[in-house]
Amino acid sequence: MATCEVCFRHCRIEEGGLGFCGARTCADGRVTAANYGRVTSLALDPIEKKPLARFRPGSMILSVGSYGCNLRCPFCQNFEISWSDRAMALADQADYISPEKLAEIAAYYRDRGNIGVAFTYNEPLIGYEFVRDTARLVHEAGMVNVLVSNGTAELSVWEELAPYIDAVNIDLKGFTDKYYSQLLKGDRKMVMDLIERAAQTCHVEVTTLIVPGENDSVDEMRELSRWLAGIRDAAGTVIGADIPLHVSRFFPRFHMADRNPTDVRLVYRLADVARESLNNVYTGNC
Ligand code: SF4
Repeated sequence: MATCEVCFRHCRIEEGGLGFCGARTCADGRVTAANYGRVTSLALDPIEKKPLARFRPGSMILSVGSYGCNLRCPFCQNFEISWSDRAMALADQADYISPEKLAEIAAYYRDRGNIGVAFTYNEPLIGYEFVRDTARLVHEAGMVNVLVSNGTAELSVWEELAPYIDAVNIDLKGFTDKYYSQLLKGDRKMVMDLIERAAQTCHVEVTTLIVPGENDSVDEMRELSRWLAGIRDAAGTVIGADIPLHVSRFFPRFHMADRNPTDVRLVYRLADVARESLNNVYTGNC
């Protein structure tokens, strides 16, 4: 048995068992990533789809995902590979692609405008060892690395990746502890700490999905965007107002299939509220 130190859950994992995320196991008394190199999705996407609006716009990026997640968002758009029963079954089915092979594929697609690798679709930080090993090779090939994450990991995990990550989009799913802990089974402070640290090491963008009746008040958006605007770089200069925020529209899905999509007018209204503090606010899914 061993304790996983990747996120706030600090799962105690039995030999051969799995942690809460379904992606980490215990082998020979050590916690390792069971999903290392297990690829469930691979696609060449426009970088704007990550979404990243202000990092190498117009580029394509090879996007790769594995399985497992350490949150439990009932509206997950990628539940087939994140935390459904189907996702857990992927442990035995997903193809293995080595870091070397993935870096090679990324370089192969350079001719089609590819600038590197985006680790996305499921939560990449729960399998950070694969991200680290691949991203190092991608850098050596003169390409870039992008991470799309829920931001739920210890800073020690970020520090291992930081030398290789050029841009990140982190979900800040709401701005109350209640929303994070009750609905998502997450930890808001851990996400905020990671956003603050990432802003000192690479290009950061943030996404907030507006779920009707859950995190859709003007006050909450005002508080979230004010906090973001106060973020400082490594030299202590306030840079937060320039961090792009994507205010995104919810669609019914997975365990929240009974709700209506977010009213588009509300998404626009909340984006305007965010613009009181931030210079680069985008609406998504509208
Ligand atoms: S990363 Fe997974 S195994 Fe590790 S503490 Fe978090 S949920 Fe548990």
